[in-house]
Amino acid sequence: MKFQVHYQGQTTHANLQGDIVAGTGPSLARLAAQLGGSRVVIDMGLVRSCNSIGCREWAQAIGLVCAARKVDLVECPVAFIDSCNLIPMMLGPAGSRAMIKTFYAPYYCNPCSQEFTALLDAEAVRAPKRLDPKPCPACKALTKAEVEAEDYLIFLDRMPK
Ligand SMILES: [Zn+2]
Repeated sequence: MKFQVHYQGQTTHANLQGDIVAGTGPSLARLAAQLGGSRVVIDMGLVRSCNSIGCREWAQAIGLVCAARKVDLVECPVAFIDSCNLIPMMLGPAGSRAMIKTFYAPYYCNPCSQEFTALLDAEAVRAPKRLDPKPCPACKALTKAEVEAEDYLIFLDRMPK
């Protein structure tokens, strides 16, 4: 797993590339060591998969990143959201948790037999707690989410208000 880091005022942007697998913990600890500023935005868009060892390491190391600054996670993929729903510590320790700002949800268009994902804003779906239908990229038909909102949005309850 690699991070590309750039700085913008008090905010550090880190783009994560690779999978959350064994070795994730040390990578995240190295990132924590080079972070300045009071806020970090981690772009998760290029994460493809998470396995259980990787998630355990991530959960242990994310606390270091969250300890001294505000952490926002953007473009979180479905695999990461599934892990967050199973493992509360994926967002860090209670009291200094990372915020998921935007995330992907899975959709399945029956007529096209095609899966797609849609990027959603966490704040916008938090109060209604629902996954609105999204247009299929192929046929444009409004399509229901492939997952139940009450299951898929569990992570929202664990984030700071
Ligand atoms: Zn379709």
